[in-house]
Amino acid sequence: MFPEVPERFGRCSRKWRSALSSAPGSGGRFGSSVFVMAAPLRVLACGDVEGRLEAIFGRVRAIQAKSGRFDMLLCVGDFFGSTSEAEWAEYRTGAKKAPIPTFVLGANNQNTLSYFPDVSGCELAENITYLGRRGVYSGCSGLQIAYLSGTEAQQQPAPAHSFSAKDVAELKTSLLSTPNFRGVDILLTSPWPRDVGTFANSAGEIDTKKCGSKLVSDLAASLKPRYHFAALEKAYYERLPYRNHMVLQETPQHVTRFIALADVGNTSKKKYLYAFSIVPMSSMDPAELVKQPQDVTENPYRKLRKEAPKGKAPLSAEVLPCAPPPEESACQFFFDLNKHQGKKRPSEGKERGDSQPKQAKKPPQPTGPCWFCLASPEVEKHLVVSIGTHCYLALAKGGLSPDHVLILPIGHYQSVVDLSSEVLEEVTKYKAALKEFFRSKGKRYVLFERNYRSQHLQLQVIPVPLDLCTSEDIKEAFIAQAQEQQIELLEIPEHSDIAQVAQPGTPYFYVELDTGEKLFHRIRGRFPLQFGREVLASEALLAQPERADWRQCAAQRPEEAAQARAFRREFEPFDFSLRD
Ligand SMILES: [Zn+2]
Repeated sequence: MFPEVPERFGRCSRKWRSALSSAPGSGGRFGSSVFVMAAPLRVLACGDVEGRLEAIFGRVRAIQAKSGRFDMLLCVGDFFGSTSEAEWAEYRTGAKKAPIPTFVLGANNQNTLSYFPDVSGCELAENITYLGRRGVYSGCSGLQIAYLSGTEAQQQPAPAHSFSAKDVAELKTSLLSTPNFRGVDILLTSPWPRDVGTFANSAGEIDTKKCGSKLVSDLAASLKPRYHFAALEKAYYERLPYRNHMVLQETPQHVTRFIALADVGNTSKKKYLYAFSIVPMSSMDPAELVKQPQDVTENPYRKLRKEAPKGKAPLSAEVLPCAPPPEESACQFFFDLNKHQGKKRPSEGKERGDSQPKQAKKPPQPTGPCWFCLASPEVEKHLVVSIGTHCYLALAKGGLSPDHVLILPIGHYQSVVDLSSEVLEEVTKYKAALKEFFRSKGKRYVLFERNYRSQHLQLQVIPVPLDLCTSEDIKEAFIAQAQEQQIELLEIPEHSDIAQVAQPGTPYFYVELDTGEKLFHRIRGRFPLQFGREVLASEALLAQPERADWRQCAAQRPEEAAQARAFRREFEPFDFSLRD
């Protein structure tokens, strides 16, 4: 099929045949025959065309004559070159026509910028579409193609042929804020992602630690494309597929295949065209989607993300690494809140040891940035409503109700089991204060902790009107809904400590009523991340199933800030942190 690469010809055609006969969207790697629910789309991807339109379209025509029609051609890298003017004019005027719907990325340099008249994307010629600077293209098939044009900006403001961290953050936000986001089918970028070769087969002469864009790595890590194509390096590299989840810690997700393509018509016969079939993930059987091929590797960007994350997450039960960065620093926040409350509070960090010599050890430090460590710039400070010595309270992002709060340790502790005695003592004080506060409003709180797939302890505290249900109703609702999902939720003695029933380091979930009654589940396999919230939102309790997903409840920042102010004001008489 690709006679320009005789030594790879066999491999490609084998891949292609198995792709047609096996799992949808598998790229042909799974091998076994699987019942196909929807007809796969047949897609071609190619590297830098550099204006050699006859070469690429001639090749596409030949392939289609031999193997039948394809649905689209996706072009990454430089579509135009410096000497393509005359050839392009024939397409632009309609004298010649692309043989297949062709989608291209924008300019990577100043010279070719003029070929792209509209930054938001447009038809450049019949059958040739410029996708735009960044965004998501969704065909009627449901196939989602995310794209980012240009190269990573080396200066600010970013030139028109470059993208900046802001572009990447906005693209991530637009996708990651969609409910139940699992990933995209295809990601198109011109540069390679930095470090893509980590944990992988060799990328030949390309040093993946030096070449490519860190922003593209960050984007790929967040968007979890099933296929990621890039070019610009005049090299062909098909990386072994990598996983998008952590083994044994996260539920399995689909793998990503990264494929870099060479320039069209290159004299060293490197592969520049890649054929594959894909069923949009939206119409795939979830079990089929997450099947792991045998040669899957670790995620090459995992380490990178820990070191230098570009995304932020809100204070919520689930991490959404896409919220915009906070405008103020942690220090600024401390200052503001102190002033507001008219009382000086010990600040976190270096000064702590000086002002509190009694404290034997500093709170544990996170290995990477944390969205809940109060000293971290990642914290959404406008949601914080009370700060104690070891713990703080913050409104939940997209809370189930406006008074849904979180009790969080100021230092980086993963779970209640890990807390030191003085931190635990203050957690208990906050629980008592919240009980009194909510009881004064005719409510009881339900508290839960999910020590599973979370880095920093979050005790979710959700008030439920006393006249709505009894404590027995609440326990029954939890137990019944747990049973439906084969989760064993056991009542443990009221005054027993979670540390007594949970081994350090083992995942668990527990619910606690303000009377101290507790239900506990030792997590052994998977656990639904939103379980606690879903039970509380269900018909049996708050009867607000539409609020079960916190992402559906996200409010604008000013509204969140107003809710936090209101909570602070009402909670003030109960807030020991203002008196002690
Ligand atoms: Zn933390």
